[in-house]
Amino acid sequence: MAGRHRGALPADGWGRVGTGLRTGVRTAWTTVADGEFFCAACGGDRNYERRTGRRRLELLGVPLLRGNATEPVLACTSCGEHFGPEALTRPTTTRLAALLRDGVQGVALAALAMGGTDHPAARRAAVTSVHAAGYPDCTEEQLLAQCAALRSDTSAGACVGVEIELHATLGPLVPHLAEPGRVGLLLQGARIALADGPYSPGERAVLTALGSALEFTPEQTQALLVAAPEPR
Ligand SMILES: [Zn+2]
Repeated sequence: MAGRHRGALPADGWGRVGTGLRTGVRTAWTTVADGEFFCAACGGDRNYERRTGRRRLELLGVPLLRGNATEPVLACTSCGEHFGPEALTRPTTTRLAALLRDGVQGVALAALAMGGTDHPAARRAAVTSVHAAGYPDCTEEQLLAQCAALRSDTSAGACVGVEIELHATLGPLVPHLAEPGRVGLLLQGARIALADGPYSPGERAVLTALGSALEFTPEQTQALLVAAPEPR
């Protein structure tokens, strides 16, 4: 069988030797670490145990022969399902919600910092976005202070610093977002930029950078910005 090592014990199973005694191969698991992950079998955030295993031949429950090590697994402590290490690449729902919250705040800050801080409507739109994302206590003053800090970092290179910040904030989030989620974030930025009138060159530049961080082509970003609804 593919992947079977020479001399290795087969997968777990039981049989009877000539005398009729019950014998079999069993995997003995040892827990080496634990943590929280998203269990695809349970469909939620659960605790896992990382376990290493070793197969052994047993006769009436007594180990006779120590066999080969198995691949380490992650075992869900709720449902018992085993997963490979790749299960840890999917964020927990708690982590995903935090990434999304920070993503929306990052977009609002970038859109505001590159051309809206002097306009009450743009400031209101940015604060509304951040509140809706899950920071209901964020004030306009706090947002403006963060914008000032962002701009002071970027004075040397137009919106390069803002672009780097957007990539840093959105990088861990974007691979887990479906297209409507990515479109939604771009339109959040567009709505703040449009709150004080048509896109300024600075706003266009930052929204183009946002589109790139959201893995849209320049053409896709442009089409979405043109189609963005005007604020009422
Ligand atoms: Zn589970």
